Amino acid sequence: MKYVDEFRRQDLARKLSADIKREADPERQYNLMEFCGGHTHAIFRYGVQNLMPPNVRFVHGPGCPVCVLPIGRIDNAIQMVQQHDVILCSYGDMLRVPASDRKSLLKVSAEGGDVRMVYSTQDALKIARDNPERQVVFFAIGFETTTPPSAVAIKQAQAEGLKNFSVFCNHVLTPAAITNILESPEVREVGSVRIDGFFGPSHVSSIIGSQPYEFFAEEFQRPVVIAGFEPLDVMQSTLMLIRQLNEGRYEVENEYMRVVSREGNLKAKGLVAEVMELRRSFEWRGLGLVPYSALKIKKEFAEFDAEKHFELPAIQVNDIKGCECPSILRGVKRPTDCKLFGTVCTTENPMGSCMVSSEGACAAYWSYGRFTQTNSEQESVA
Ligand code: SF4
Repeated sequence: MKYVDEFRRQDLARKLSADIKREADPERQYNLMEFCGGHTHAIFRYGVQNLMPPNVRFVHGPGCPVCVLPIGRIDNAIQMVQQHDVILCSYGDMLRVPASDRKSLLKVSAEGGDVRMVYSTQDALKIARDNPERQVVFFAIGFETTTPPSAVAIKQAQAEGLKNFSVFCNHVLTPAAITNILESPEVREVGSVRIDGFFGPSHVSSIIGSQPYEFFAEEFQRPVVIAGFEPLDVMQSTLMLIRQLNEGRYEVENEYMRVVSREGNLKAKGLVAEVMELRRSFEWRGLGLVPYSALKIKKEFAEFDAEKHFELPAIQVNDIKGCECPSILRGVKRPTDCKLFGTVCTTENPMGSCMVSSEGACAAYWSYGRFTQTNSEQESVA
């Protein structure tokens, strides 16, 4: 297959659906966590859940970069704008995420703060070059996919001798978060979240490769299939996970071979290792403090580290009352379990982070799934 529409062909989807229904053992449940918001989006946009038998259920994970950032870090970004008069550059989704006191970067911008939406780190560098008298901060968020461009920007700023550019580093790491979920009491002890297998992220894995998942496939005895973001990718990966579970195998398989290798992108990994290092722990919305799950800028590049430059305090803030984002990010609850879903909280007026980005589970339910009942929901009603 060569073009994207070939990964959305109805005839192949029907065939895969029939294969899955034939091979899924009706005597057992298959609870498969898609870590990544891109998969959640694909599942809802293309109605993949409705092509599954009732005993195959998708559990949504925390893999949406906007969703997992704790409110305190957005408050830090607002502080830099309001107290230090910086030009804050951020990706569009971040602007709408609610912070403390019902603020957001969009509201701060409406009140006169200099917040600018950018599409890349290169845009932020250009703003810094064009405004030498102002401090420009790039609000860096995301998993391993978006980390290399931040490292490149820092190296570029150093090479150009830019004195007014820094990065507010919030890059997080996927394997540590998956390990944290598998070690959580809800999975290990209470059993309120059953996870039988994982869809490995696609874009993240194009950077880190499939190798980092081998540890927890073996240690936690859960199969992993690295899956692309198209509907046929998700369905083929579902079949691969079902086959592993039926055969009692716990391996890392790669459905997304057209992009992902075992080693990943060595050049990108090398660049990140040159500029950044592991943090001892980092707070994730929903997961709390997760050891060694994020990156910080190395001492050698401290002049480009906004956290050091502006001496930002650690701020801990609770989610707004009634918002179930933390439980949704851990797979404990579904968006429809939240009383605010579709009433107070919609994509036009998000109250929590999961309703902001198209990769958030609440936004996916609201945009594509609210008028349909999935097979498993029909089952549970019956
Ligand atoms: S519907 Fe809104 S308030 Fe409820 S969990 Fe989702 S984002 Fe939070």
